[in-house]
Amino acid sequence: MSETISQDKAVTIHYAVKNPDGVTLDQSSEERPLAFIFGRGMLIPGLEKALEGKSAGDELNTVVPAAEAYGERHDGLIQTVPKQLFGEQEVTPGMQFRASTDNGDQSVVVVEVTDTDVTVDGNHPLAGLDLTFDVTVIEVREATAEELDHGHVHGPGGHEH
Ligand SMILES: [Zn+2]
Repeated sequence: MSETISQDKAVTIHYAVKNPDGVTLDQSSEERPLAFIFGRGMLIPGLEKALEGKSAGDELNTVVPAAEAYGERHDGLIQTVPKQLFGEQEVTPGMQFRASTDNGDQSVVVVEVTDTDVTVDGNHPLAGLDLTFDVTVIEVREATAEELDHGHVHGPGGHEH
């Protein structure tokens, strides 16, 4: 009997993910599939849910709603700060940097710059988007004790060390 995807299985997949406009945002390459230990938060929750119980050779096409992908957008993560905080540094829309916030270090992107203020957005770039995944399951097997200990899969598509 072939293995089915469940907690702590070592799983290898090929995947492509599209935004609601059908634009491909990311995909695994033929030489480099994605290998991971299932059920440990390596994937977004909606994709884990869709994969559970599948086995090698299965193909699926699934729409993962924003809430089960990278979350909804939160207006509270958009902040306007005085431009003088940036000193001499040139600040332009689209710039990304790490900022310390009440929620710890966060990646933010500059969305607007005026003469006096800079508006930054701490939402994940994919927040608020329903994502479409095309997935082919390549392999499902028991993870080794060492892999479970390390928290990642060894070999092609995983860690090689
Ligand atoms: Zn390792």
